[in-house]
Amino acid sequence: MINLPERYLEKMKGILGADFERYEATFRMPPVRGFLINTQKIKPQEFDALFPLPTEPLSYMPNGRRLLSEEKVGGDPLYAAGLYYMQDPGAMSSVAALPKITGRVLDIAAAPGGKTIATALLNPDAFIVANEVNFTRAKILMQNVERLGLKNVAITSLPPKDFAKYTPESFDLIIADLPCSGEGMFRKEEAAVAAWNENINRMNAERQREILSYTLPALKKGGLLLYSTCTYAVEEDEEIVRFLMQNDMQLLPPAERVLQITAAGVSEKGENMENARRFYPFISEGEGQFFALLQKQGEALYTTKSIPAKVSVNERKKLSAFLSKHLSQEVEVVNKQAESYYAVHPLARTLPLRYLSEGVRLGEFSGEKFLPHHNLFTAFGEVFINKEELKMGDPRLEGYLRGEEIEAKSCAEGYVAITLEGHVLGGGKCVSGKIKNHYPKGLRTR
Ligand code: SAM
Repeated sequence: MINLPERYLEKMKGILGADFERYEATFRMPPVRGFLINTQKIKPQEFDALFPLPTEPLSYMPNGRRLLSEEKVGGDPLYAAGLYYMQDPGAMSSVAALPKITGRVLDIAAAPGGKTIATALLNPDAFIVANEVNFTRAKILMQNVERLGLKNVAITSLPPKDFAKYTPESFDLIIADLPCSGEGMFRKEEAAVAAWNENINRMNAERQREILSYTLPALKKGGLLLYSTCTYAVEEDEEIVRFLMQNDMQLLPPAERVLQITAAGVSEKGENMENARRFYPFISEGEGQFFALLQKQGEALYTTKSIPAKVSVNERKKLSAFLSKHLSQEVEVVNKQAESYYAVHPLARTLPLRYLSEGVRLGEFSGEKFLPHHNLFTAFGEVFINKEELKMGDPRLEGYLRGEEIEAKSCAEGYVAITLEGHVLGGGKCVSGKIKNHYPKGLRTR
């Protein structure tokens, strides 16, 4: 049993009252794991039939599953094919609270990508700018989005105040899943327990208020804010909601599907915090979470202007020649960043932002030759004309994931998408009966 600080336990007794013993009992149970099925690539029923480990569906997340096994999934080829993303069932609850979203979304603290991915999958008509101020973490976020081959996400690594400056009143939804004291993760992360002290809640609350103050000017009037933390401290949860309500934001009811799996927020005398929700492991299995959905007061005034792409007619012609030769589907909007070409969501071109990745990285020219990037395969592999199809149990599968050259059985000469049960793992180049391996070095299994 984890040794929790006395003062923390006292605070939790104050919050939970008669439920405190039920909360304490959850520390004698192992943490649970879950994942999101990548519905941009596979239907949930089809995935369930392929996935080898026992799972349980989640009532509040149509593509969410609780994993009923402790086996590691990192080396699973279905994972490598980007068919799912590991996420704690508690962490999924906040995104499940959203209504259907279209338009422009900003996830201001997005790494490693859980909330961005859940939002992108549930709302295929939304375009998401996933921002992570920490560059190292932004690269992890980018790898996750790339592995899943998401087409409606772009990545930035900017300080929150840049959004107020370059994209004022521009977003229909802002997700603020902010750094916190992590009390909801105590069962899983002993480091969070060790870091806890009397001042930590206040310090985090101050940082949360600061990030929100910098970010909120980027929200459209009438737009939504999803605020969340993985902590139970009132200072970082309901007090922040109060702060937001004092700053032109109105607390809204969450989607009904999350009511049964969460408890109402902690209210002060005469106040109603029913709409702010607390996810506790003794109500629904998963780690702790707090969330609230709010709306900015007023009516939107903005107009949308498209920023021209930086691709010359000649570049576009050469790129189109490569794409139409290899893909059975047209890639509509393309932009260039440094030397790389990206397939971009049309809404990405309405925001004057410095993107780390503007969308799907297609590749680069080396002289007259176009060299496709791994992301082209993860996002457009399903419509790649030349394919080498592998089945579960094919000995070439492990070889491919280890980065080895494999034997070609059905593909034509040239660039080829390697699929597993019809789902793309990555690319290669077929030369004289062999496939040269283009699976990225950093992802290869040993
Ligand atoms: N939303 C993410 C997900 O679902 O995978 C988890 C986000 S995590 C709780 C908070 C993130 O905020 C971290 O990635 C951290 O690097 C970032 N962060 C820390 N300090 C920040 C600051 N001052 N401004 C913006 N982001 C910050």
